[in-house]
Amino acid sequence: MTSAKIIILSGPSGAGKTTLHQKLLESPVFKSKLIRSLSATTRLPRKGERNGREYLFLTKKEFIARQKKGDFLESMKVFDNYYGTPKDKVDAALKKGKNILLCIDVKGAAVVGRNRADVLKIFIKTPTLRHLKQRLQKRGTEDLETLKLRLKIAKEEIKEAGEYDYVVINDSLPHAYQELSRILRKEIFKPESVQKSDK
Ligand code: ADP
Ligand code: 5GP
Repeated sequence: MTSAKIIILSGPSGAGKTTLHQKLLESPVFKSKLIRSLSATTRLPRKGERNGREYLFLTKKEFIARQKKGDFLESMKVFDNYYGTPKDKVDAALKKGKNILLCIDVKGAAVVGRNRADVLKIFIKTPTLRHLKQRLQKRGTEDLETLKLRLKIAKEEIKEAGEYDYVVINDSLPHAYQELSRILRKEIFKPESVQKSDK
């Protein structure tokens, strides 16, 4: 039997979650096995981001209305904005036997881990905080205040890495991706390969 999982990637802002999860979704090995969750957020779209693609961009009023209706599997205030994982897409994916990939913060990940079975939690981090700062600066999406806030919170988030099933250090991108692929091959192909070898 294939047991579909909720696969969570967490880690500080700038650690490389978006880059790595994008590579997974484009990979011929994994793309048929994974569905990407689409989070809702009250933060403003960055240049190039589109509603319904990177996020479901909501006003605070719309977000709170959905929260009250119980639409979210988890929702959190992260860096002064609200973010939430819509429950319907997660449940639809699992029902179809597909793994669903979530890129969410450590507090949201803890909630999902407590409330759901079959959760695989992977923490992504940079080799040092200096790398993180440089990558955030290079990405250029944050003003100075937001950058400082993200780095301050990063220190707290990194303390939670021990709560995860795996930690991937995003040093070079090919190396980090190789490590992530190894974990996913082991974790999501395991039930099927056991079944095959049992035949
Ligand atoms: P997150 O989604 O965790 O906030 P991103 O995927 O946006 O992080 O990555 C932050 C920035 O660092 C991006 O500009 C990305 O292109 C870059 N980046 C990601 N991985 C690496 C790496 N291994 N080496 C150098 N730069 C990287
Ligand atoms: P960003 O604003 O850089 O896209 O995301 C900021 C942070 O919010 C990241 O740590 C990201 O993982 C987290 N995040 C994105 N979507 C969700 C979500 O649905 N729930 C929670 N709890 N965190 C989220």
